[in-house]
Amino acid sequence: MKFASEFRDPVAARALLSAIARKADAIGAARARPVHIMEICGGHTHSIFRYGLDRLIHEGVEFVHGPGCPVCVLPMARVDECVEIAERPGVIFTTFGDAMRVPGHRKSLLQAKSGGADILMVYSPLDALELARRSPGREVVFFGLGFETTTPSTALSIQQAAREGLTNFSVFCNHITVPEPIKALLDDPDMVLDGFIGPGHVSMVIGTHPYDFIARDYGKPIVVAGFEPTDLLQSVLMVLTQIAEGRAAVENQYARVVPEYGNSVSLAAIADVYERRPSFEWRGLGEIDASGLRIRAKYAAFDAEEKFGIGYATGRRSVPEIEGCACGAVMTGKLKPTQCPQFGKGCTPDMPLGALMVSSEGACAAYWQYAGARETAA
Ligand code: SF4
Repeated sequence: MKFASEFRDPVAARALLSAIARKADAIGAARARPVHIMEICGGHTHSIFRYGLDRLIHEGVEFVHGPGCPVCVLPMARVDECVEIAERPGVIFTTFGDAMRVPGHRKSLLQAKSGGADILMVYSPLDALELARRSPGREVVFFGLGFETTTPSTALSIQQAAREGLTNFSVFCNHITVPEPIKALLDDPDMVLDGFIGPGHVSMVIGTHPYDFIARDYGKPIVVAGFEPTDLLQSVLMVLTQIAEGRAAVENQYARVVPEYGNSVSLAAIADVYERRPSFEWRGLGEIDASGLRIRAKYAAFDAEEKFGIGYATGRRSVPEIEGCACGAVMTGKLKPTQCPQFGKGCTPDMPLGALMVSSEGACAAYWQYAGARETAA
């Protein structure tokens, strides 16, 4: 496969693993513990497990899985609000498939659908827009979820709905941003992080400069990475090289895709449609300043929070997580998924307790799918 096979070349991967081992040994001589490198993005977590990089990498490097799975960091209260909107008469609630099985306090969207709510999976907010055009008399609500990767497509859909004068389309906006939770993790005195692998898809939109504070203010290296095995190995080597040389900088391993200053069309749409919420609740991380987006007043006609009088602005925020669930600790890299007492017992992909076992980018799902399969085969 062109543009993929060359990044899965076993000879190149072995050479990178050897270079990482040499570099880690050199650093390890002065260290009593492995170098902790957090991959922020859930897509990277899955690549690491899919290609067995967690086992192949030198023992002096430890991957710490970060909070970059948008479904996983969604607090239960927001799922409850989705269900509440979806169960209103006349509503067609649309969402990406990943969010369907995320447990809420009462039920998931899938359970609400089986109870009669009109909930549809879509691949894009444009599908929801088309549904609104074809369904006059019904209110079509799109669940706007995700980091800067999906934020522009929701913004463009709202702009298009405004141009067409649609009155039955709205967005339940739960879009969030990446740099703020990284700052929260760096401010956590319990976190031991030596460097970061930066998200590839998010950075296509925002570029590399929003991460400058990581190197400048915290003295930690960050390398924006692609998703193939040699992308990730090269990025680890770049982080280790910075550490070995006593440097901290933002570097871009994924330059074939990520422009330094991001995508100007997407950034303009984001700036036009959204503004920052003062703070937003993250599962496992609590409230983080300026980490969530809401729809600007000029697009209030397309804001489901306004239309339904529901959501973050109403002040109903937190509901407690399920007892015994360690999602927060796993999401902040403090525990490995297998260290959660529920892993494989009370929580499996068929009967999930937490979103990390459901989402295609969740760390628990990655362990279950790849590490679990290995253990079974062993
Ligand atoms: S195993 Fe389940 S309950 Fe435990 S951290 Fe993972 S998703 Fe949460």
